[in-house]
Amino acid sequence: MSAGIKGKVALVTGGSRGIGRAICQRLAALGCRVYINFVANPAAAEETQRLIVAAGGQAEGIRFDVADGEQVTAAIKQIIAEAGSLDILVNNAGITRDGLLARMKDSDWDEVLDTNLKGAFLCAKAASRGMMKNRWGRIINITSVIGFAGNAGQINYAAAKAGLVGLTKAMAREFASRQITVNGVAPGYIVTDMTSSLPEDIQEKIKAEIPLASLGAPEDVAGAVAYLAGEDGRYVTGQVLHVNGGMYM
Ligand code: NDP
Repeated sequence: MSAGIKGKVALVTGGSRGIGRAICQRLAALGCRVYINFVANPAAAEETQRLIVAAGGQAEGIRFDVADGEQVTAAIKQIIAEAGSLDILVNNAGITRDGLLARMKDSDWDEVLDTNLKGAFLCAKAASRGMMKNRWGRIINITSVIGFAGNAGQINYAAAKAGLVGLTKAMAREFASRQITVNGVAPGYIVTDMTSSLPEDIQEKIKAEIPLASLGAPEDVAGAVAYLAGEDGRYVTGQVLHVNGGMYM
């Protein structure tokens, strides 16, 4: 599945852990040279790199904050200088700062919007120049079921993830004539550091609302990304692929 991306260069933001790690591993297994972005936790990025190299793939870590325009521009310049191009961008880095609206601090709003939404804009802006020149590119934005269904206590996260859907569709229209596709993947509840901190009773409640009756694995999301990045996905743009066990249809 999704052949045709052997030798392409991919950047996965927040690629060091969870869903991002699985995406890095999948793209590397398909023959991409993968850049694993992280911001705070080099050990996790090194472990992702180790796993990829042990499996015969090519990967390196690259530290930058997706919310910082100067860092993003410098990092993408560095990738293109080293690897010759940047062909596939997966905007996966994301954080939560949950709380009810009445008690949400302005900084909780700003941090989530800056990382989850502005980060995708900054990375796409820096990456798209080269893609336009090469007349080939894939941009995949990891949104969330919460951006579609909403969730009490997550207005900042829901707004950022819904914003990514609009960004995806507008970019898809801007870039289509250059053979750059832009799509979203919207995971439901996936087992990662982000969800394992949820109390057991909440996890049980979530499972009860999922027709396929279990949380998803990072690899389930990686499979959707591989489809959109690869040759099989070449005629798909401006779409959001939901990977959620049927919890939102
Ligand atoms: P994790 O919390 O496990 O990992 C988050 C990743 O993002 C880490 O690699 C982290 O790097 C990186 N990161 C955070 N902030 C920044 C930043 N400012 N700049 C660069 N990298 C950053 O998250 P998940 O794997 O659970 O989630 C991945 C994506 O999937 C997110 O966008 C999330 O919103 C989305 N998602 C997750 C769902 C789930 O159920 N888990 C459901 C729906 C969507 P570091 O290790 O250095 O901190």
